[in-house]
Order: sequence, then structure tokens, then C-alpha cells
Amino acid sequence: MNTFVRLSKAGYYADFVFYPIFLLMLAGVAIARDTPAAWLLWVLLCVTGVAIWTLLEYGLHRVAFHHIVLIRKLHDLHHAMPSAKIGTPTWVTGALICGFLLLPLWREAGFNLASGLTCGLAAGYLWYVTVHHATHNWRTRPNSYLHRAKRRHATHHHSQQPCNFGVTTVFWDHIFRTVR
Ligand SMILES: [Zn+2]
Ligand SMILES: [Zn+2]
Repeated sequence: MNTFVRLSKAGYYADFVFYPIFLLMLAGVAIARDTPAAWLLWVLLCVTGVAIWTLLEYGLHRVAFHHIVLIRKLHDLHHAMPSAKIGTPTWVTGALICGFLLLPLWREAGFNLASGLTCGLAAGYLWYVTVHHATHNWRTRPNSYLHRAKRRHATHHHSQQPCNFGVTTVFWDHIFRTVR
């Protein structure tokens, strides 16, 4: 099971190739199909999707990654080896996003709504994997957004007390009082 999350170099960086292409394709098709009035709604849906992602990121990390037995074991591996190429394979996250979000929403509510929300959530996920990669692998400029994220996430890794579950934003940690 551990081999599932221990990725090859290509597997680890696949998110950074697949998701930008996926986002551009969805946005391109939405622009081509819709009228300018519908584009505004699409942008609003996209922003909503990003906001939903930040809550999902917090909830998944706090509950699933730290409490659901099998997932916790895999996440513990990342806590033990923070810089190792450990992650969820792109084909898994891509299949989950398409199978449980894009396609059902498209069928029920049309392409504009489905692609707007999916783009927002997928952009949020890409934001998360990028910031998380940066926190463990990049040198960051003091007082920058990435530096604060890095310090916050380092505290999550090393604190005895469960805290700082948000990677991209500290907002939900403030709301649920888990910030340190
Ligand atoms: Zn964790
Ligand atoms: Zn980490």
C-alpha cells in the first residue's frame, strides 16, 4: 500500500503538468460555448470552487489524513519523510474530480456550472500541491506568503498538539481554533 503513495519523479510532478492543461481546457471550452454574460457566472462559480477547496483541504487533512486508519498510515509516511516524493497519484485525483464532480454536475446542471465549479476546485487543488511542495522543498523569502505557509506547516509537522491543518490558508484554522 505504501508504494501507492511513494511516487516516481514523473508521478510526483505529473500534477503540475496535468492540472494546468485540464484547467485551460475546461476554461477554453466554457469560453467557446458560452456568451459573455455566462462567463461572469462561470468566474463566480470558479471562485466559489476555490473557496470550497480551502474548506475541503482543511477537512480532508484534519479528519481523513489524521484519523481514518488506512489514509492516516499513508499520511504518517509523509510526516516521517516530509521531502520524499509522497503524494496521491494524479490519475486518482483526476478520476475523483471527473467522476464525482465534473461529470455528475454536467449531467444534472449543464456544462457552464460543472466546468466553473470543477475549475475552481481543481485550481484549489493545484494551489495546494504547489504550496505544499514549496513548504518542504523551496527556500522562501522572509515575510512572504510562502514563508508564512512554510512556518505554519512546519509547526503542523513537529507539534505534539494537532494544529495548522490548512496549507494554502490559515483561515479555517482560525475558524475551528486549530491555529498555532
Ligand atoms: Zn498532517
Ligand atoms: Zn507536509
